Amino acid sequence: MELVFASHNENKVSEVRKILPPNFKIISLNDLNFFDEIPEDEETIEKNAIFKSNFIYEKFKINVFADDTGLEIKALNNLPGVKSARYSGLERDSSKNINKVLSNLGEESDRKARFKTVISLNFNGELKLFEGIINGKINYTPIGDNGFGYDPIFIPNNFNKTFAEMSLTQKNKISHRSIAINKLISFLGKVYD
Ligand code: IMP
Repeated sequence: MELVFASHNENKVSEVRKILPPNFKIISLNDLNFFDEIPEDEETIEKNAIFKSNFIYEKFKINVFADDTGLEIKALNNLPGVKSARYSGLERDSSKNINKVLSNLGEESDRKARFKTVISLNFNGELKLFEGIINGKINYTPIGDNGFGYDPIFIPNNFNKTFAEMSLTQKNKISHRSIAINKLISFLGKVYD
């Protein structure tokens, strides 16, 4: 079965290709020769994911899924949330984003946070959403070199190291994105059982 992953990020695409069973052929936007940016201007993570998968579905009339992720920090009224990529500016600079989080949190002792991924699937004319959440806390300083984005400051519950100190395999076992992808796999698996 062919399914488009509405992402230009080839790392994410190959990660998903590795997770999905071999009977699923994942097509990237680059494979479709579609190189335009899809707008991510909605006010929630859900709406951004839905906008992206609807956008590609309307254009190509093909089964497609899209994902959107945000880091929600309790003491910052759930910011940066849907604005996670551009929290410190349009250049989407991860170290500036991290610095802004740490300076806004200051010495705040309630450092509870969660990563949330929403996957929106347009499948045979129907829209389905799959959510993955991991709870944790924001460290006082960045630690670790692995991963990307906010990984150096996020410590998942029941662990005493940041995502950036974990191997990709270890992170993928527990991450928000893998939780959402596994729900997607389970749905598609049932449809094609
Ligand atoms: P996107 O929706 O996957 O593009 O993610 C939005 C922003 O959230 C990214 O620019 C990253 O900074 C951050 N982000 C997404 N997923 C992760 C993750 O697994 N670890 C750390 N940061 C992430």
